[in-house]
Formats: sequence, C-alpha cells, structure tokens
Amino acid sequence: MSENKKAEKIVGVKGMNDILPADAPLWELFENTVQSVLKSYGFQQIRTPIVEPTALFARGLGAVTDIVEKEMYSFVDSMNGDNLTLRPESTAGVVRAALEHNLTYDGPKRLWYVGPMFRHERPQRGRYRQFHQVGAEAIGFTGPDIDAELIMLCQRLWDDLGLEGIRLELNSIGNADERNRHRADLVAYFEQHKELLDADAQRRLHSNPLRILDTKNPAMQEMVNGAPKLLDYLGEESRAHFEGVQKILRHNSIPFTINPRLVRGMDYYNRTVFEWVTDQLGSQGTVCGGGRYDPLIEMFGGKPTPACGFAMGVERLLELLKANGERFEPNQCDVYVVHQGEEAQLQAFVVAERLRDAGLDVILHCGASNGGSSFKAQMKRADASGAGFAIIIGEDEVAKSVAAVKNMRAESTDNNQVTVPIENVATYVLDQIVCGDECDDPTHHHN
Ligand code: ATP
Ligand code: MG
Repeated sequence: MSENKKAEKIVGVKGMNDILPADAPLWELFENTVQSVLKSYGFQQIRTPIVEPTALFARGLGAVTDIVEKEMYSFVDSMNGDNLTLRPESTAGVVRAALEHNLTYDGPKRLWYVGPMFRHERPQRGRYRQFHQVGAEAIGFTGPDIDAELIMLCQRLWDDLGLEGIRLELNSIGNADERNRHRADLVAYFEQHKELLDADAQRRLHSNPLRILDTKNPAMQEMVNGAPKLLDYLGEESRAHFEGVQKILRHNSIPFTINPRLVRGMDYYNRTVFEWVTDQLGSQGTVCGGGRYDPLIEMFGGKPTPACGFAMGVERLLELLKANGERFEPNQCDVYVVHQGEEAQLQAFVVAERLRDAGLDVILHCGASNGGSSFKAQMKRADASGAGFAIIIGEDEVAKSVAAVKNMRAESTDNNQVTVPIENVATYVLDQIVCGDECDDPTHHHN
C-alpha cells in the first residue's frame, strides 16, 4: 500500500448484522429468559454445526420449498469438493444429530437450540440474511400433549418477557393421504380460477399447491378463501389428535384461533401446525412457527419416530421487546478504580482483584503507556461507566496505605468521599452496596 493512500474500508455482508455492545444486554436478557423457561420444561440444549451437507436440507426441507429453491448459501468446499450449506434452519441438523448419536435410544428427548441461521433473502425490516432462531424439538412423542406443551412453553416465554399481543394461530394439515385427497380437489379448484393465479401460484399449482393458500397477494385472497379446506379432509385419527391439542390449550386458558389456511414452509410437517403472530412488526409479523413432523426421521433413514417442534425469530422478538419499551441498560461495572503514579497503579491492581474476589464487577482504568491520565479524565470515565463507586489511589494514598472511596450516586457532593484503609476497601464497598446508608462507619473492620 502506498504511504499516503488511505486503505479502503471493508464493510460487513449485506443483510448480516453486527450485534453491538449497546444491544448485548437485551440479547442476554432474552437468552437467559429463554434458557430458564426451557429448563423449567425439562428441555436440554443441543449445539450442532452451522455448516451441514447440502443434501441434508435438500432431502429434509423438500426440493420445492422457498428455502431450498432460492434461499440457501450453498458452496463447494474447494479443499475436497464437498457440497456444503450454511444452515437455513436447525430442525434438519438436530434430527441428523439425534439419529447419528442415537439420542432417543432410552426414550423420547426434549431438545432446544439457539444460534444463527442463513437465508439469501431480500433484506428488510425483520428479514435478514443472517438471523437467529431459538427452537425446540421434542423427538419421540406421539400424543397431542407434547404439541400443547410446546405451545404453552412459548406462552410462558412471552409472559416472562412481558410481551403482549402475540396471538396463536392453529391448524392441522393431517397426514399424507389426507393431504393427497385434499390436493386433488385443491388443484381442480385452482384450475377453475386459473385467471386469478399470479406467477408464483401458477408455478406452484402442480409442485406445491398447498403453499398457494399461504399467499400474501391481496388480489388472490377472496379466491383462496373459497378453496377446499384441508380440515374437512381429516380422518378420525388426525381429527382426534387435533381435538386433543385444543382441549389442553382450552383447559389452560391459552387463547387461539383456527386458521384453516395456515400451512408451514417446510415439506416435513404433518398434523398440528401453529404460528405466533403480532400486528406490531409490520408485514414480518410471525415471531414463531412450529408443528409436528412425524415423517422426517424416517426420511433421514431412521426408524419411524414422531416429533414436534418450533422455531422463533430472535431479532423479531427483540424488536418487539424494544417496541414495548424494554430498557435494559445495566452499568458496565460496580466499581471504577482510578489511580495515578507507578506505585498507585500497582496498588490499584491489587485492590481491583480484591473487589473481584468479593464478587464485584470492576473496571481498572487503563491508560497511556506512562500510566498517566489526569484524575479528571479518569473520573469522567468512571462517571460514564455507571459505576456506583470510584476508588481513587494517588501518591498520598499509597504513602498512607489507604484509598479514597467516592460514592458516585450521593445526593450532595460534600461528604460523598471517605478514606478507607486499603485492606478494608472491598468489604466497605460491599457493605455500602448491600446496606447503603445504614452502615456508615468507613473504618469498620470485618473478619
Ligand atoms: P416467513 O414467512 O416470514 O418467511 P418462514 O416460514 O420462512 O417465515 P420459519 O422458517 O418458520 O420462517 O422460521 C421461524 C421464524 O424465524 C419465523 O417465524 C421468523 O420469526 C424467523 N425468520 C425466518 N426467516 C427470517 C429472516 N430472514 N430474518 C429474520 N427472521 C426470520
Ligand atoms: Mg421465509
């Protein structure tokens, strides 16, 4: 590079976001809440690779789904020619891992995951090329009880996060036979209304007509509303399963509406499907989607194993949290340690470690190579950190083996600073944090 030519900045990949420190506390709040809710239902975390063989998704999701048709980041590993894909979702990977490690050998398993997913979509509000999902997969459960439990778990998460106005839509898409009988009538119906089908629908008419029901095209709504409903084609068992889910939800006062047009994007779903939807996010209003996928494990070469799961979009839920006024800006630390002079710096290190031993979060001022930033500049940093206390150590303090402790939240500026023997600093600060004004003897000794 020539000396006076400034290097060009490289920017991040379009549609892939940096999560900056200012947003980190909100992510932490969300992830901690998720983790505790899932734990309270006995779910165990599983972490699978971000890269999987392309064939896994082609087989798992179905070749005519949006994802496989046009959204996958697939590439050939130039080192060995392997066909690989950045995971667009996690169900396929989790099921692969469950099979590969025979996780269900001793009974059904409740699993969950969180992590980034990749889809080559047009970036817009609530739709990114790298986004995050939290999901749960309950593998090996036959009955409608687990479907209901998964839904109730979501409701608990919304409640714990303080999110309101997320409504549940529910449907059953039956089994393959029931869908085939419905499909024949559906295609015939759409053919009668061919002039109303848009290009997308024309394309799907014979490959995936069920997805036409999912259309967002307003010009097709009325026609689609009149289409044969899959619910009317359900046999006895599918009907009973669906009734079973509803009964548990009603008994637990979980409101829902049945949306006969609700289908899910992936081919592997059967019976129960559901979505959690909000009006507060514009057109990307689905925050969570899930359902039963009994055929998938056999499709992957395993023995028939029923399963049910969901995936939620973390970015959309965080946007909801923000819209609901969630402010979560904790202080960077409890204590900020300010110092001046070589001896004072060494002393400051020792004090900071003692404070950390006591369980406090501490920022030790690190500065210029000669160790010297002005006290004023350091106190500015201390203030900005949100610390409740600043510890100040200068040459005088070193000479007397003491430190000044300043209460950064004191109402008046007189009397907000005390001098404490160096070995008592940690216990003094801890006392002040725990009992505030009530313990006010700075020379108080603890053993
Ligand atoms: P959509 O109809 O919005 O494209 P989908 O059916 O493709 O959703 P799923 O594959 O079911 O979505 O994923 C579950 C959830 O993940 C969605 O409900 C949504 O909250 C979130 N999600 C999906 N795609 C994206 C994306 N590109 N960016 C951000 N969140 C997403
Ligand atoms: Mg999509």
